[in-house]
Amino acid sequence: MSEHKDFLRTIVEKDLKAGKYKNIITRFPPEPNGFPHIGHAKSIAINFGIARDYNGHCNLRMDDTNPTTEDTRYVEALKDAVTWLGFKWDGDVRYTSDYFDKLYEYAIELVKMGKAYVDSLDEETMREYRGSVTEAGRRSEYANRSVEENLDLLERMKNGEFEDGAHVLRAKIDMGAANMKMRDPLLYRIRHAHHYRAGDKWAIYPMYDFGHCLSDYIEGITHSICTLEFENNRDIYDWVLETLGLQPPRPYQHEFARLGINYTVMSKRKLLELVNEKRVNGWDDPRMPTIAGLRRRGYTPESILNFCDQIGIAKANSTVDVSQLEFCIRDDLNTKVPRVMSVLDPLKVTIANYEGSEELDASYYPDDIPKEGSRKIPFSKEIYIERDDFDENPPKGYFRLTPEQSVRLKHAYIITCKEVKKDESGNITEIIAEYHPNSKSGQDTSGIKVKSAIQWVDAASAKQVEVRLYERLYACENPQNMEDLNPNSLKIIKNALIEPAVVTEKPDVRFQFERHGYFYADSIDYTDAKPVFNKIVGLKESWGKKNSIEKCSTRIERVEDKKVQIDGKTEAMSETEQSLLNRYTNEFGLNSMLADILARDEKLSSFYEYTLLLHNSPVTIANIVANEVARELKEKQSSELKFTPSQIAELVKMIDDGTISNKIAKSVFEEMATSGEDPMLIVQAKGLIQISDTSVIEPIIDEVIAKNQDNVAKFKAGNTNLLGFFVGQVLKMTSGKANPSVVNELVAQKLNK
Ligand code: ATP
Ligand code: MG
Repeated sequence: MSEHKDFLRTIVEKDLKAGKYKNIITRFPPEPNGFPHIGHAKSIAINFGIARDYNGHCNLRMDDTNPTTEDTRYVEALKDAVTWLGFKWDGDVRYTSDYFDKLYEYAIELVKMGKAYVDSLDEETMREYRGSVTEAGRRSEYANRSVEENLDLLERMKNGEFEDGAHVLRAKIDMGAANMKMRDPLLYRIRHAHHYRAGDKWAIYPMYDFGHCLSDYIEGITHSICTLEFENNRDIYDWVLETLGLQPPRPYQHEFARLGINYTVMSKRKLLELVNEKRVNGWDDPRMPTIAGLRRRGYTPESILNFCDQIGIAKANSTVDVSQLEFCIRDDLNTKVPRVMSVLDPLKVTIANYEGSEELDASYYPDDIPKEGSRKIPFSKEIYIERDDFDENPPKGYFRLTPEQSVRLKHAYIITCKEVKKDESGNITEIIAEYHPNSKSGQDTSGIKVKSAIQWVDAASAKQVEVRLYERLYACENPQNMEDLNPNSLKIIKNALIEPAVVTEKPDVRFQFERHGYFYADSIDYTDAKPVFNKIVGLKESWGKKNSIEKCSTRIERVEDKKVQIDGKTEAMSETEQSLLNRYTNEFGLNSMLADILARDEKLSSFYEYTLLLHNSPVTIANIVANEVARELKEKQSSELKFTPSQIAELVKMIDDGTISNKIAKSVFEEMATSGEDPMLIVQAKGLIQISDTSVIEPIIDEVIAKNQDNVAKFKAGNTNLLGFFVGQVLKMTSGKANPSVVNELVAQKLNK
């Protein structure tokens, strides 16, 4: 179960405690009119997750009340998605269409109670009668029809005697209700259409507001969880169940914020358009935010569930940065998948002084991954390296192969360039190099210093593969239409080369191609004769780029928040900033100064919130972002920062778990800001780990006490201020690495003995 209880789980626990329900029953109720996307994954994770956490169950229900857009193909895709994410629905898949008879009976009951009527106004008049937000509506004259007349009309509507749109069934609630949804909402409409399951039996179909609450009731659902846009429908939900006098326990509706992700669209309608207009290769195109697409791309169910867990469940809509999702898959694969070598843009290297061939032992995992496994890599005279790993006129700071600079071939030898061969147009066609026999990886006695190791493949044994490189589907954050599509979202490399182990051994279907990213064997197009790999994600986070200027056809411009000078002193806050400030103080418990600094600066608040998603420690992160990160951002753009939110999150994790002190964190940060190194590596390399072990600290305290007997005497005589002196001495002797609160306690203990 999630560590931090969300508001939905809080409600569920309260209901269980109060004895409102014995068992928790939730449902995931998609409309089978498209493939599910990652937003649905969030809903699946919530509904199935809550049922699991409280030993209840969750139903999978196709909300199939719209005959014209639904299809069994989508039903299958929905079942696949739920199963792939690791959940199991209770019993058989359910269908609202299976309840059509029952729903119709409930409708008749409402009519008999005088609580529903057949209205025959045309659509436009009906809209006019509905009134506006500030004005009450007025009721249709047809509302005075007798119960008998209504029953007769409803029956004939059902039997198909009227044209589409001729009549509707409406609830008789309140045309003056402040909540406009309550102004006699529609319950049934006429639709002469073939239903993919119910066939041609029905000429009327229930509206969502009528079908959904009753389906929930029929299934014994306790918590009907939906997205925020249904907030105003909740009144109808309750009205229907209450008016029909249904026996408790009955379901209640609770709303949460729907998931939005930048650089993509998340509506089935828009996704369907992409598919229909062939802008992508089907619903499972690896660029699609559909579960089928993410799965084909190589995402794991764990990474998606982790993502859903990290973004949490909120009551306010917001857009999540896509790099957050990318972070989750990278994080998941890092510890799981083997590293292999590939060359996407091959440049031939002939090693003039090498003869014969050999097999090199190469571990699949770097030292920091606690996994075993290795393979043999063939090595011989002719190899291929990445074209841009050689530069004849290297820029400053170029660490790879040049005519003057040797380089290590990963897992193999150091080579030195001897000659560069070119074609008539001056393109480099081949490098002639020499290897250093005593520089073999793991047993290098050559003494040659190189600045980097590059990947390579052996020409004789390398396999040719197709590699599909994916970028974000849209070129801008808030895509509006097809013009915003990213023209470079797919790049196909037909003749990339990989080491043979990738094809012959297949220790897993996912790999890290060293220095290129994570790749996945395409589940459809891959054959042994023609292997195809999809790029899942690159190795580095690309946060920061989002702050760069993008071309976007119809950007939603942020309403320019106007800042007003009041009294020439305090700058008033915009509405957005004010709401951030409130959230930071009320929800995150920040003091007003910290909250103010963060809320007023968009770069800082976005950095803050992003980091917070990765590690939930609002106060510590706020301190670092408002001080340290703010200082860096004064001079730099987000994209120029050496460190990333995930590195800051890592740093704060170490503070929180006591690995390092706040003070040391500051110096680690300085290092991160200049070198871009991971905080964990800095702490390790510099031996900065905080000492909390009393058996280490105690002897140091004893030493300090022994050396300062006169101060001990003064302390005992009543000068308690000297406590600080002793603590300071101990910290000094450990170069600030001793845990101050541990030292404090121990010193006090010893002096008071
Ligand atoms: P879309 O707008 O993509 O067509 P929808 O709301 O029409 O989605 P449904 O099939 O009705 O799709 O949704 C099934 C369930 O998934 C509903 O409970 C809905 O609230 C939830 N859901 C849909 N989209 C999201 C989202 N982006 N974030 C969270 N939950 C979502
Ligand atoms: Mg819907």
